[in-house]
Amino acid sequence: MGKPLRVLLVEDSEDDAVLLLRALARDGYQPTCTRVDNAPAMRAALAEGGWDIVLSDYNMPRFSAEAALGILRETGLDLPFIILSGVVQAEDVVALLKRGAHDFLHKDSLARLVPAVERELRDSESRRQCAAAEQRVRLLTLAVEQSPVSVAVTDRLGRIYYTNPKFEAVSGYGLGETKGRLFTFLATEPVSDQKLRVMWETIGAGQEWRGEFCNRRKDGKIFWEHVTIAPLKDQAGVLSHFVVVKEDITARRDYEEKLLHHANYDEVTNLPNRVLMLDRLYQSITLARRQNRQTAVLHVDLDRFKTVNDIFGHSAGDELLRVAAGRLIACVHEGDTVARVGSDEFMIILPGVSSGRAAEKVANRVLVSFDRPFHINGQEVFVTASMGIALAPTDGDNQQVLLRNADLAMGQAKEHGRNQFRFFTAGINQRVHERLQIETALRGALGRGELRLHYQPIIDLCSGKVRTIEALLRWQRADGELLAPGQFIPVAEDTGLIVPIGEWVLASACAELRRLDRLGGPPLRVAVNVSPRQMRAGDFGSVVERVLEQTALDPARLELELTESVLMDDTSDSVRTIRKLNGLGVRLSIDDFGTGYSSLSYLQRYPFDTLKIDRSFISGVERDAHSTRLVETIIAMAHGLDLEVIAEGVETAAQMDMIREHDCDLAQGYHISRPVPVDALEAFLRTWDGG
Ligand code: C2E
Ligand code: MG
Ligand code: MG
Repeated sequence: MGKPLRVLLVEDSEDDAVLLLRALARDGYQPTCTRVDNAPAMRAALAEGGWDIVLSDYNMPRFSAEAALGILRETGLDLPFIILSGVVQAEDVVALLKRGAHDFLHKDSLARLVPAVERELRDSESRRQCAAAEQRVRLLTLAVEQSPVSVAVTDRLGRIYYTNPKFEAVSGYGLGETKGRLFTFLATEPVSDQKLRVMWETIGAGQEWRGEFCNRRKDGKIFWEHVTIAPLKDQAGVLSHFVVVKEDITARRDYEEKLLHHANYDEVTNLPNRVLMLDRLYQSITLARRQNRQTAVLHVDLDRFKTVNDIFGHSAGDELLRVAAGRLIACVHEGDTVARVGSDEFMIILPGVSSGRAAEKVANRVLVSFDRPFHINGQEVFVTASMGIALAPTDGDNQQVLLRNADLAMGQAKEHGRNQFRFFTAGINQRVHERLQIETALRGALGRGELRLHYQPIIDLCSGKVRTIEALLRWQRADGELLAPGQFIPVAEDTGLIVPIGEWVLASACAELRRLDRLGGPPLRVAVNVSPRQMRAGDFGSVVERVLEQTALDPARLELELTESVLMDDTSDSVRTIRKLNGLGVRLSIDDFGTGYSSLSYLQRYPFDTLKIDRSFISGVERDAHSTRLVETIIAMAHGLDLEVIAEGVETAAQMDMIREHDCDLAQGYHISRPVPVDALEAFLRTWDGG
């Protein structure tokens, strides 16, 4: 079987055509052939396509090789065109060869035909391949030139040989400036030697490398690129160039950085958050262990921040937090960490300290820095900080234990009056343990009937008569111990147990007063302490209303003692409750005056009847003139607001004389009577002669 050959034969002689095909067949071809002898037929045949070669007679009655060649050129097809003819003038042949014919053969020497066909087919194929290659190069060049990503081509040493227009657009450097430089010349980030070494090793071994670079534009702007470096090998497989393709990923990096920041930093203060703090703490503990040093953590809790937040609003609260954060940072050294770990809680980590001294120094600095007021909405506000300090590894060698212990120590600082710091000690652990036991026992105390009320008389300083009895709670524990409120009320408040307990106190005190009524004697008032937590519980007004109804007590004989913190809480239900209580006709008194915010504007705003001066002022009057002046001022001021004044904690005759001298209305204290159970109170009432 011969090679197939599709021949377009331009020939008027059928006989010549047969001879020709026979010659081809003889030398190994299996030709199929279409014979044309005029222009339209030629055009039609070319349009059909699929030809390998055109063999054309020189001259025909209605056609010629020249015309046929012209038609072939028109179509743009690059087919071998061989002229076969009888005798022809040499110059005519040359003219046709010049116009694109590929060869000329004499009809008499057909032996040359097949070699000529073969050569022309070969030439044609290589011409075709060349054109295709050129076309591809053109396309690739265009692709690189117009590529949406930066492309650089370098030599084997990474020196730039070509950069595309996008490279210039992104970096600001044109080819004139980049040529000959190392392709890493834009990198600004202190690229680690390790990263560069790995890169060179990888590409040097003929492998692709991908990575990210932080670069600087010609105008100084920083941008990020994802870089792919691919080695180029020549035909022999030898590495000759590198192609560097770079994609601008600044937007993605920005976004990632924002996400990372969001995950690790607090939005309000821009300090590290709990997540980052835990990480830093872990690092510090590990490093300190290796260096035989300690890590100190200070748990900082802002005192009364929630009150400020409630009164001034959240944006003012945020502003305060920012200022507080700034002050905390100013208290530590570089390398220490200040983190915000809760709404008003901060954590300071001091890595690698040699003792607790460093933590103590920082804590003292914090206390001093919170001595200054914060300016919120044009007002001066004082917010202090309570701190707990724990050291690793002594107080715990992992984050959890260390943080818990710092927290416990902080709780102790709060309990001891805030605005101070405490180191964690084993004793604290013990106390926390006890507190937990109190909580458990207190939950059942009401049901087991372990709660008692003691009463302390309050006398009128003019007449000397008992005017009021204050109900004070006691807890008679199963083991016989009698607990004062200071030992369990904070727990009751924290757990919410104060709500049912407070209700019991109110009902019991009112019922007891009615019982005393039946024994005769002048009608007394009863004073009942109310915790802020009860005021916030919502329906305290209704509770009081119900108790008054059930005991048929004249509301004017019930005096509810509130603390100043309730007044600060004026965004909550407390205000509504106060109004409701006032509407019921019960008396309201402000307890422990002088220990809280002591703001006159609050007293003016709410319907109080009585002000109780805290006993710390009364105990001071014998010692210093300053306290005496304060007591004098408070009494005068309270009278100015139409408030009755009670002096609490009167323990001596001298104190009694002093407050009487300054027109105080009422007095309460050990000098008159301690708080006592109700039968002892009855005995007191019978024998009391007015002092
Ligand atoms: P408070 O309302 O200011 O009560 C006066 C406290 O001062 C009582 O302490 C009383 O025993 C004490 N005291 C009275 N006179 C003197 C004195 O001359 N010298 C000294 N050193 N102390 C005197 P107590 O009974 O331990 O109660 C402490 C606090 O517990 C009360 O302070 C009150 O805030 C709270 N509390 C007591 N009972 C209740 C209650 O039923 N409910 C609530 N929520 N709190 C209560
Ligand atoms: Mg009281
Ligand atoms: Mg008091």
